[in-house]
Amino acid sequence: MLANYQITKSISLKDYGINSTNVHYQLSPKELHEITLDKNQGVEASSGALAVNTGDFTGRSPKDRFIVEDEETRDKVWWGDINIPFDSKKFDALYDKVVDYLSDKELFVRDSYACADENYRLNIRVVNEYPWSNLFAYNMFLRPELEELKDFKEDWIVINAPGFQADPEKDGTRQGNFSILNFGKKIALIGGSGYTGEIKKGIFSALNFILPVHKNTLPMHCSANIGPEGDTAVFFGLSGTGKTTLSADPKRKLIGDDEHGWTKENTIFNFEGGCYAKVIHLSEENEPDIFKAIKPGAILENVILNDKGEVDFSDISVTPNTRVSYPIDHINNIAKPSIGENPKNIFFLTADAFGVLPPISKLSPGQAAYHFMSGYTAKVAGTEAGINEPQPNFSACFGAPFMPLHPAEYAEMLSKKMKDANVNVWLVNTGWTGGAYGTGSRMKLKYTRAMIEAALQGELDEVSFEKHPIFGLQMPRTCNNVPFEILDPRATWEDKKAYDAKAMELANSFKANFKKYEENSNEEILAGGPLV
Ligand code: ATP
Ligand code: MN
Repeated sequence: MLANYQITKSISLKDYGINSTNVHYQLSPKELHEITLDKNQGVEASSGALAVNTGDFTGRSPKDRFIVEDEETRDKVWWGDINIPFDSKKFDALYDKVVDYLSDKELFVRDSYACADENYRLNIRVVNEYPWSNLFAYNMFLRPELEELKDFKEDWIVINAPGFQADPEKDGTRQGNFSILNFGKKIALIGGSGYTGEIKKGIFSALNFILPVHKNTLPMHCSANIGPEGDTAVFFGLSGTGKTTLSADPKRKLIGDDEHGWTKENTIFNFEGGCYAKVIHLSEENEPDIFKAIKPGAILENVILNDKGEVDFSDISVTPNTRVSYPIDHINNIAKPSIGENPKNIFFLTADAFGVLPPISKLSPGQAAYHFMSGYTAKVAGTEAGINEPQPNFSACFGAPFMPLHPAEYAEMLSKKMKDANVNVWLVNTGWTGGAYGTGSRMKLKYTRAMIEAALQGELDEVSFEKHPIFGLQMPRTCNNVPFEILDPRATWEDKKAYDAKAMELANSFKANFKKYEENSNEEILAGGPLV
């Protein structure tokens, strides 16, 4: 059943310069679901979930993500192509245009918060033009108790106007859409894109600055869960590498699927209150927990339904980035609150489409730092015209687009914490085996799960390892429930010469990418890279 709590508080947005008199405050999921249907902005799937199309944007737009350059950010942010500066006067002018635009609209306001540990809590007020975007905020952020709303004071505000278009010439944006963080004013201003991920990743990026700078806490683009013995596991990885998929494990309590902080008190906490799973080729058999989470309250994005309202998860005609968001309690086995102890195991997930990296290997501290700074995965062909070969993609800290500080700042914090906590670090290739993309095939989910389980159970402490000749990674020679032939990637390729050539090619890409960090890296980290 959908929660349907009664809110009587009326709300004015005049303080923000928004003069709308048609403002819905804190509507229940059921109401937002129904209003969306009434407005023909979505349909109900046979599962009872709401299905919407996010419009022209079906993914984030990193080139349109800006940070206002001000006293707070000027000397701290690592400015460049990722953290693009935005003039503060231009921001004020654009803000005025956006709130003007919203002033004659029906609006949806939601009070929520981020950070499950109350010592780090960030209160967030979200103002949405569309009801389903407001339901997304309900699903993804933490939900305050009714009592807490009485004197709710926001720390940050998200203003979300997908229907507004900026004028790049006048407004200082790149094009009509934009996502701008203003740390001085504590505003995330999003316009021209209905992609809901902009809302959650906006607040994530804000916390990735606030927590290390002001709270001595390491923010991480990772999922996390807790085993029956209370041991925490953390899974870092870029988009599509398996954070959400692999953290949903019926035997372990889910802490969160995407964003966490590692505190000085030796705890890990989730920033969010929900999950945002990819649903491309989703099946009940392979991913039962996620499949069952798609029920009333969940929002499916950009999927295709048949005339019975059933989703065809193989249909990616709108986008391969089809998604579902749902409150974390749609998953059965969860940690309450979403907090865990220091991790015992950390997994770096990579979807290596070259089929070169071992499906699991154990990293030394130097290798861990090297691979964290590198943040490797592959971009796979098929979605962009003209691209048939996979391309290496390096994104520092496994999340560079969301990291306002220099990657080394996060890497140093992580290295220190990993040493203090004496954690095991594993590199897991959830990508290709038996050849590169095109020849080989994606690693079977059941094998990846078995390898992770073996690592978590300590079974891999008992086996012998072999060193990868090019990457220097320690590969276990045996693993329960996994055919031993797949543990050494070279053995899975028919053409060994082709493997060696691909491995060299990938090693060279790693080295070329790492050049920019060499100056500031010590011997131990440099020795963690490819051996050749
Ligand atoms: P994002 O940061 O965008 O949320 P994510 O890291 O959470 O990405 P997932 O949503 O878990 O990524 O996506 C992994 C996708 O790869 C899923 O669609 C999953 O079904 C598929 N997959 C196929 N084989 C594997 C495997 N061996 N391990 C993990 N995922 C796999
Ligand atoms: Mn995810």
